[in-house]
Amino acid sequence: MTPEQKRIALARKAGWKPCQPCLENGYKDQWRLPSDDGCAHVSELPNFTGSLDAVAALEGMLTNRDLYLFCLAEVCGIDVQHNGRSSCTVFTIAQTLLIATATALQRCDALCAVWGLDKEETK
Ligand SMILES: [Zn+2]
Repeated sequence: MTPEQKRIALARKAGWKPCQPCLENGYKDQWRLPSDDGCAHVSELPNFTGSLDAVAALEGMLTNRDLYLFCLAEVCGIDVQHNGRSSCTVFTIAQTLLIATATALQRCDALCAVWGLDKEETK
């Protein structure tokens, strides 16, 4: 998936939907706000892959933070497989720093893994 595909998949997860009235009137790439009280162009979707503030809103939606931490550690190049996916993982200070300073794009990769968005067909 390209960063733009990840951004759109995560926007859908956050409740954004392609705007049908706009589509029917010939306007492509318009999206309904999650609040459904307006629409925005695709370029105005939250910049999840480039902004830690935007991605923090997605992290707030997580119900399984252990799995997210596991996936984020993996994205950061930490070998966590031997600890098992369900068990609590103890990280070194250096590893903790790697995770804490993960970029927005790395966080998006972990979120896509947690929510299975990386396995969906891209439309
Ligand atoms: Zn619209």
